[in-house]
Amino acid sequence: MNKKKIWLSSPHIGSSELRYVQEAFETNWIAPLGPHVNGFEEDIQNRVGVNHAAALSSGTSALHLALIPLGVESEDEVLCQSFTFSASANPIVYQGATPVFIDSESDTWNMDPSALEDAIVSRQALGKRIKAIIPVHLYGMPAKMDEIKFVAEKYGIPIIEDAAEALGSTLFDKNCGAFGEFAALSFNGNKIITTSGGGALLSNDEGAIQKARFLATQARDAAPHYQHSHIGYNYRLSNVLAGIGRGQMEALNDRVQARRANFNRYKEYFASVNSRGYKIEFQEELEGYFSNRWLTCILVDPELNKGISRESIRLALERENIEARPLWKPMHMQPIFKGSPFFGGKVAEKLFEIGLCLPSGSNLTDQDFDRIFNSLDSVFS
Ligand SMILES: *Cc1c(COP(=O)(O)O)cnc(C)c1O
Repeated sequence: MNKKKIWLSSPHIGSSELRYVQEAFETNWIAPLGPHVNGFEEDIQNRVGVNHAAALSSGTSALHLALIPLGVESEDEVLCQSFTFSASANPIVYQGATPVFIDSESDTWNMDPSALEDAIVSRQALGKRIKAIIPVHLYGMPAKMDEIKFVAEKYGIPIIEDAAEALGSTLFDKNCGAFGEFAALSFNGNKIITTSGGGALLSNDEGAIQKARFLATQARDAAPHYQHSHIGYNYRLSNVLAGIGRGQMEALNDRVQARRANFNRYKEYFASVNSRGYKIEFQEELEGYFSNRWLTCILVDPELNKGISRESIRLALERENIEARPLWKPMHMQPIFKGSPFFGGKVAEKLFEIGLCLPSGSNLTDQDFDRIFNSLDSVFS
């Protein structure tokens, strides 16, 4: 195969990243921390509309450092969206707590507020302590935060938003990442903007973010020698990578625009396919919802598509060296979380069964799209 690979979501470096990195080199700020870290944190705060942000080594570490100030420990439970990447749930287990998984609703594909309330009532009736709720804005689509917040407030449980995929998304003009007591962003290589690897923890609680910064730098007490009265972590972002992040932030609006344009292109393509008797469906924006369209995803129910499945499409693309991927396999179906409680029905399970993520990078070219559509034509001929 010598056709160039078309990736699901490849990094897209702009024009100013190198300037920031160069500045870090010239001033010898190569270590963790430094002026770019502070600048990147300010950029994030201003963009999302939160008072405090800590730049960290990953989105996973951000979720972990949100659980610690909330006092999550063994015997506690944390309610987590099941339909997500495992990094949403793993930090719960790092703390020795139990994840309780919640199904999705079919509008946004995110946490179902009524299954959430069922879980709270049932687990509390068993005497369980629920310390946090983790909704996810999957593929950039905002979760139903008003309803989720209503339930969370009714029972006095804090929200940690997993906004790893949703930087640039808004819900009634408020940014994803500004709804919860805490929020986590990711700047992994495949996300809408990247520092090659990185993340951020966001909150309006200054004390909590200070504590997160302290824990992220090995929990050193104030003393000339190394003294520790807490277990610490090495979770901070380096000044060099934060320089990449500052350049990427300047391009964020362009990246969102490009990914939304990808979505519209697929939408138009499949409108024509559907007019020939197929029924390919999308993750649609409800009124007031604005998705960054990190990934464009389709639902391919074989019963509505003359037997064509998401796998037939994925394999056709793979034959042309084009990467596509099934939607996230829900956590309650994962071998490692087999024993964890789950509340809801089969929405997430069905999405996994029939859903496919299509190439969605902000740097896809017209030629890339020609190849993608040619390959899809062979399936829907
Ligand atoms: C990418 C991602 C994470 C983890 O972020 P990393 O920076 O890779 O640690 C967490 N949750 C979701 C939903 C993600 O997509």
